[in-house]
Amino acid sequence: MDVIEARKAAIGDGTEVRRLLPQRALRTIGAWCFLDHYGPDDVSRGAGMQVPPHPHTGLQTVSWLFEGHVLHRDSLGSQQLIRPCELNLMTSGRGIAHSEESPRGRPPVLHGLQLWIALPDSDRFTDPSFAHHAELPAVRHQGATVTVVIGEYQGEQSPARTYSPLIGLEVAVDAGATFILPVRPDYEYGIVSVDGPATVAGTPIEPGMLAHVPGGLSVVLLEPGAGGRQPARFFVIGGEPFREQLVMWWNLVARTAEEITQARDDWAAGRFTPVRGYAGDPLPAPALPAGRLRPR
Ligand code: MN
Repeated sequence: MDVIEARKAAIGDGTEVRRLLPQRALRTIGAWCFLDHYGPDDVSRGAGMQVPPHPHTGLQTVSWLFEGHVLHRDSLGSQQLIRPCELNLMTSGRGIAHSEESPRGRPPVLHGLQLWIALPDSDRFTDPSFAHHAELPAVRHQGATVTVVIGEYQGEQSPARTYSPLIGLEVAVDAGATFILPVRPDYEYGIVSVDGPATVAGTPIEPGMLAHVPGGLSVVLLEPGAGGRQPARFFVIGGEPFREQLVMWWNLVARTAEEITQARDDWAAGRFTPVRGYAGDPLPAPALPAGRLRPR
């Protein structure tokens, strides 16, 4: 098992995030191709988090909150308040735009994950769609509560539609408990500790680190840190290793540099359907990098 450290990155108005995927040494975990962990942040003052309208192609976005509220708007006309333990799943297909903002009357603290799932080549030009799943199955065993966000766990199936073999779980482990997570040998996994120190397969991690668990295993031990006196919360992603090479740049997932250039120019020229209702300008398209974008 490897432990990978996050890079610090900024989104939207400058909210700082811990970027855990992609990494130079690790592009994907299953089809999961992007993972930011942010907060807990005080968003009680000013505008809070503001991510103006921006485009996506070739992916699904997963928004998952531990604390606080986010208001999602997209170019399909969706407007959805996201609360903790609710799955916000947007499928860009060939192209979509969305914004995310701290709504009025929000709780003071914001803490969550932003994830992307690469669509396989066979589905990446599908119609854009949006789903919000407020009711997700949960399994209580071994002193832990496992919420099934994506995929299947112990016979419980998430209602979320995905396009490749994947799993996404929130695992809350009681103080003093040792949790044996059953895993599939044909999947690889990434595990984040959400709140503080914890251990994965006996190795200490903390927020800002990603434990990368390779395939071939049948169980992974998850335990609270600090001698187990505090509870611990984990987020687990996994899937069959993704065999397709991706070209990722800005908010776009594609297969060639030409596709990226086309999508970037389409956004810059206003050829995406606009997001209605966001109080501010859309994000401008950044300049393409000087070097050639290569599949990886
Ligand atoms: Mn986005």
